[in-house]
Amino acid sequence: MTQIIDGKKISAEIKDELKQEVAAMKAEGKEIALAVIQVGEDPASSVYVRNKKKACEYIGITSVSYEIPEDSTQQELLDLVEKCNKDPKINGILVQLPLPPHMDEDAVIHAIDPKKDVDGFHPVSVGNMVIGNDGFLPCTPAGIIELLKRSGVEIGGKECVVVGRSNIVGKPMSMLLLRENGTVTVCHSRTRNLREVCSRADILVVAVGRPKFIDASYVKEGAVIIDVGIHRNENNKLCGDVDFDAVKEKTSAITPVPGGVGPMTIAMLMKNCVQSKKLFGE
Ligand code: NDP
Repeated sequence: MTQIIDGKKISAEIKDELKQEVAAMKAEGKEIALAVIQVGEDPASSVYVRNKKKACEYIGITSVSYEIPEDSTQQELLDLVEKCNKDPKINGILVQLPLPPHMDEDAVIHAIDPKKDVDGFHPVSVGNMVIGNDGFLPCTPAGIIELLKRSGVEIGGKECVVVGRSNIVGKPMSMLLLRENGTVTVCHSRTRNLREVCSRADILVVAVGRPKFIDASYVKEGAVIIDVGIHRNENNKLCGDVDFDAVKEKTSAITPVPGGVGPMTIAMLMKNCVQSKKLFGE
């Protein structure tokens, strides 16, 4: 029987655990605040920002919104980040990506105080993740590790194949699987024999950004499949990077789209906000 990994349920469990933890912290007089910075009014970004603020409210974290116009200069954004860096009441800073094309995303990410880097994208956070120090883990890959653990999937010693090597998903995913003692292979657009490499995987994580790219021929019998992709098809329905219906029967466990990896990203952002107070809050 294939196990459908329920990201909605698992993310709700995590949010409830965090809510209790935050209530206990509040009882000791410890408040947590997240600055949420949005540049412009991109509709998809507005949905993400709204959902992040809703999660904050549910858990008991104060969200402080900063909305600046699309045509703001990079310096104006950097000044705002610096203001949040210096504000002792702000524990975490989230700059919603993507930024408008005239802005340099790396420069903005690097400007965030690493102690407030709740997205986990700053080079200091990336370095801590690689070494295995305490710090902020990038939300999507950290959410995938939680999904696997809470679904009873053993990672240690398993053949793990990650398709995609982006800085926000593929690369950190491979590091976190390695930290859990997986034997990890990372694939990308220059990988030869992709199908053959994928079909060796006990755990296959797909973050390729192409709708239904992975069909049954890439999948070993009994593999666990994690689908990171999100796409809207011609009928306005969501689908992932994996052809769910074609692959499902061959797997021992698989994440659906929607309702798999997606909900975990926000839950892990909330976890990082709590972490920011624990590690660096006065
Ligand atoms: P990117 O476009 O940054 O990276 C895609 C990766 O896939 C690249 O490393 C690329 O290789 C590789 N790739 C592209 N084509 C092929 C191919 N034919 N064969 C093998 N590898 C290939 O995407 P992201 O990592 O940012 O996102 C991936 C997907 O996940 C997207 O659908 C995105 O929307 C979704 N996503 C979902 C999130 C969630 O919360 N659920 C969060 C973040 C992303 P190369 O490096 O060689 O170009």
